[in-house]
Formats: sequence, C-alpha cells, structure tokens
Amino acid sequence: MDQTPRRGPRGLREILAAGERTYSFEFFPAKDEAGERALWDAIRRVEAVAPTFVSVTYGAGGSSRDRTIGTTERIAAQTTLRPVAHLTAVGHSTAELQAVLRRYADVGIRDVLALRGDPPGDPNGVWQPHPQGLRHAADLVRLVKECGAFTVGVAAFPERHPRSADWEADIRHFAAKCRAGADYALTQMFFQVEHYLRLRDRLAAAGCDTPVIPEIMPATDVRQIVRFAELSGATFPADLARALESARDDRAAAHRIGVEHATAMGERLLREGAPGLHFITLNRSTAALEIHRNLGLDRTPARALIGSRA
Ligand code: FAD
Repeated sequence: MDQTPRRGPRGLREILAAGERTYSFEFFPAKDEAGERALWDAIRRVEAVAPTFVSVTYGAGGSSRDRTIGTTERIAAQTTLRPVAHLTAVGHSTAELQAVLRRYADVGIRDVLALRGDPPGDPNGVWQPHPQGLRHAADLVRLVKECGAFTVGVAAFPERHPRSADWEADIRHFAAKCRAGADYALTQMFFQVEHYLRLRDRLAAAGCDTPVIPEIMPATDVRQIVRFAELSGATFPADLARALESARDDRAAAHRIGVEHATAMGERLLREGAPGLHFITLNRSTAALEIHRNLGLDRTPARALIGSRA
C-alpha cells in the first residue's frame, strides 16, 4: 500500500498562518480488541479524504493513556495522516509530562493539544494539580514549547468553561494560553452557531487573534448527546432535542436529523469565516464523513471552492 505521507512539509502552524482552512477528525483510544478494529476502520476511512489532521484524546488514567500514546504513534508510523496528540496535566508530574513529550518527539509527532484536564472521577469537581505538576493549561503550553518544536493547540469554550467565574475571567485565561504560545484552539462541542460567534467577538474585543476551530458533534443519538451536553456544559437546543426524541426508536431518522443539523452548522460556520472544522467521530466515522461530504470537503476542487478564510 502506498504510504507516502500526505502530511506534507508544512506544519499546522504554517498552514494556519497562511490562512488555509483545516479539516480534522477526533478519535479516542479504544478499550478492547473489537474497539480497536472499529477505531482503525474509522481511521482508514477518514484517511481516504485526506484531512489536515486527526486528533486522539488523552484518557484520565494509566492504561487509557498508554493507548492514546500507542494509537497516536501508530497513526504517525502507519498512515499518511498528521496526528495531534491531546495531553493533559491530570495526575502527571512535570517530569512525566516531559517524558511523554520526548516520546512523541522521538516518533516524529509535532502537534500537541495542551489541556489541563478535569478532576478524575468528577469532571465538575474541584481541580487539584499534581504536587510536582502543573496548575493551568497555559503552564502546559509553555512546557510543550520548551520540550521541542511542537505546534500547540488549546481548548476554547463557546459557552465559557463551566468553572470560570465569568466571561471576563474566561477570556483573560484563554488569552494567557495564547500568550504562552498556543498556535490555535479547538472548541468544546456546541449546538448553536451563535455561541461560537459570540466567543469570536469577545476574543476579537480582547485583541486575541488566535484561530479558534469549531468542533462539530453530530447529534444522532438523543440519550448520548444529552449526557455529553451535560458533561461539557453545552446547551442542547429544545427543538433539536424534540426532533431527536420523536425519532428515539428510528435510528435512521435520528441519524438524518443529526447529520442535517451539523451540516447546517458547518455551512454557517464556514460562511462566517471559521478557520476550519473539527469533527467528532466517536470512533465511528459515518456521520462525520457524511457531514464532511455534504459540505463538499472531500474532493480537492470543492475544497478549493470553499477557499481560504482570508
Ligand atoms: P485551563 O485553560 O487551565 O482552564 C481551566 C479553568 O481554569 C477555566 O475555568 C479557566 O478560566 C481557569 N483558569 C485558567 N488559568 C487560570 C489562572 N491563571 N488563574 C485562575 N483560573 C485559571 N480532557 C481530557 O481529559 N482529555 C482530552 O483529550 C480532552 N480533550 C479536549 C479537547 C477539547 C477540544 C476540549 C475543548 C476539551 C478537552 N478536554 C479533554 C477537557 C478539558 O481538559 C477540560 O475542559 C478542562 O476542564 C479544561 O481544560 P483547559 O485546557 O481549558 O484548562
């Protein structure tokens, strides 16, 4: 099989700095062999549409973290994709974080999404840093930059971080991550474009011009989505919830509703000048790839038609 990397010579920083849009997909590390097969089936299907990058989330504990590292390394070694490794400060000393970063650098990974992470067990609990670790994501951004020539992404929150006291504090702390060296941000999931647009306006008013790439979560299963929305603090629109509820026992109809909603969001976000789209796959690429295709992004000429955000 042709394994010529489509990653190309330019890093993500250069691509974003040139004003080119990025299209990307997110995976999480599989828990067992069946999950691993489904994950790699999804990765290979995504590889066929040549996205700008794929990212792999970082788990809360030991074995899941090893699987994140293993999956990210395998993507770098065995596919043409550019892997972005999520990394959190949870439960890690600074020395351990440096060791993970060295391992990534050794296998040619150049892209890290630097996150604080959530308190283990209760995502909404009180955050306790590791005694020899880091307190905020901005500290991790600095550490990643010190450890090598990485392009660094950070998290942004269209409905603000659930633990931020107010918008002013949220934007101030986001701007601190950008000053620490963040090259771009990926957002938390959201289901109403207005949330993204208001965040964009707040950041512009604060003089922060770091590209913020919106995350697209296909809402195809009402039970799952309501739980995700609760965990992430995202508002789930009542009309979308009602539509999905009415299709509770009709998976094909629910899938259609979720894909249509996400496609409409993607269209509007691109019209509004978003610097790219980041698709959540939940390791099943079907819905994400359908939205990607609906937006005309899987054919190079169509990609050119949508053009740069400049
Ligand atoms: P921070 O930027 O440190 O912010 C966390 C809170 O602290 C905010 O309320 C902020 O306002 C506040 N704060 C920041 N700096 C200061 C300061 N100097 N003084 C006082 N308060 C401050 N979690 C995982 O475990 N694994 C993943 O792979 C993962 N991937 C994610 C991907 C995306 C795109 C997003 C949006 C989130 C992801 N998360 C992941 C969840 C993330 O770790 C949590 O949302 C976490 O609570 C916040 O992380 P952060 O990097 O934004 O932290």
